Amino acid sequence: MKLLNEHDRESCRNVWIISEFLPDGELHAVSFELLGAARTLAEELGCEVWAAALGRDVSKAAPQLISRGADKVIAVEDGRLEYFNDEFECNILERLVCKYRPEILLGAATSRGRALIPRLAGKLYCGLTADCTGLSIDKETGVLLQTRPAFGGNIMATIQSGGFRPQMATVRPKVMKALEADPIRTGEIIYEAVTEKDGEKIKEIIKAVTEAQSNVNLSDANIIVSGGRAVKGPEGFRLLEELASRLGGAVGASRAAVDSGWIAYPHQVGQTGQTVQADLYIACGISGQIQHLIGMQSCKTIVAIDKDDSTPMMQMADIAIKGDLFEIIPKIIEELDKNGINKGGNKQ
Ligand SMILES: Cc1cc2nc3c(=O)[nH]c(=O)nc-3n(C[C@H](O)[C@H](O)[C@H](O)COP(=O)(O)OP(=O)(O)OC[C@H]3O[C@@H](n4cnc5c(N)ncnc54)[C@H](O)[C@@H]3O)c2cc1C
Repeated sequence: MKLLNEHDRESCRNVWIISEFLPDGELHAVSFELLGAARTLAEELGCEVWAAALGRDVSKAAPQLISRGADKVIAVEDGRLEYFNDEFECNILERLVCKYRPEILLGAATSRGRALIPRLAGKLYCGLTADCTGLSIDKETGVLLQTRPAFGGNIMATIQSGGFRPQMATVRPKVMKALEADPIRTGEIIYEAVTEKDGEKIKEIIKAVTEAQSNVNLSDANIIVSGGRAVKGPEGFRLLEELASRLGGAVGASRAAVDSGWIAYPHQVGQTGQTVQADLYIACGISGQIQHLIGMQSCKTIVAIDKDDSTPMMQMADIAIKGDLFEIIPKIIEELDKNGINKGGNKQ
C-alpha cells in the first residue's frame, strides 16, 4: 500500500487530471473536458485543480491547460516521454502522487488512459471507477460520487471509494464539458524531472507508427444521422448517407445495425461504441435503449424518427417525428434539395 491509510487521508488535497496527448504532441481535447469536470469538483471542495503533463515538450501545453481551468501544472519534460510508455509514465505519476497527495485523480478512458490509469491505481492501492458518465461531491461527506452504467447499462451505479486516496476515475472523451479557453487566466507551472528510478527499463519503445485514420470521425461530427434496426440493411444506410451528406454530417448506427453487418463498427454510437456530442443527432428507427442513449444524450438537439412514439428515444427527443423513416427521410431530402441545401456536394 502506497499512501493512503486512514491516517494520511486528511493530508490529501486538490483535484488532479492526467493530461492526454495526441501522438503529434498536441493536447487531446479530452484533457480540457477533464479540466471542466475537475473545476466543478474543486469548486465544491474549495481546493485547486492541478494538471499533470508528461511529454517531450510540454511548454505549449502548460499555458493551454491553465487557460482551460488548471491552477497548477506539473510539467515533466523528457526526451524519453516522446512515445507513450505506460510503465514509465506510471512510475513518474506514482512518485508525484505520493509527493503532492491529490484527493481526487481523473484520467481519460482512451486507449492510453486505459493502459495507464488502472496500472497507477494498482500501484497506489486505490479504487478506480472506469468510464464515468457523472462525477459529483457528496455534500455531507465530501466524498467523490462516481456514476457509471452497470449490469450491461441497465442501471446507473454510483460508486464511492472514499476510504482511499486519491479517489480515481476515468471519463471517456466527449462525456464532460470543457470550459472555454480564458487566455488571461493565470496559474503556476511546477517543473519536475524524471529520476533514474522512473526510467527502469521494463520495455523500450523503438518506433511509433500512426495507424491510417479511419474516415469515420463521429466524435468530432457536428451533425450525425444515425440508423437502427429499422433501417433494415445496407441499402437503408445509403438513404441515411444521402441525408447526412446534404447536411454535411456523418452516419452513426445502433449496435443492432452494426451487429447485423449493415454498417461497420466505427459508426456505432453507445456504451460499447462511440460517445458523441453533436449539435444535431437524428435517430432514425432507434428505440433508445440505455446503452445507446449513454453515447449520445449530450447532443444539443435530438431529432427522432420512429413509427412508435412511446420509445425512450421519441420521449427524450427535442423533435419527435412519428412515422415510417422510408417515407420521412426522402421527404426531408426533397425539401433540402428544393432549398438548395447540399453541404456535402452530392449530385441532386
Ligand atoms: C452490454 C451491452 C452493450 C451495448 N452497447 C450498445 C451500444 O454501444 N450501442 C447501441 O446502440 N446498443 C448497444 N447495446 C444494445 C441495446 O441494448 C439495444 O439492443 C440496441 O440499441 C437496439 O438497437 P435499435 O434501437 O436499433 O433496435 P430496436 O430496439 O429494435 O429499435 C428499432 C426501432 O425502430 C422502430 N421502427 C421499426 N420500423 C420502423 C420504420 N420503418 N420507420 C421508423 N421506425 C421504425 C421501432 O419502433 C423501434 O423503436 C448494448 C447492449 C448490451 C447488453
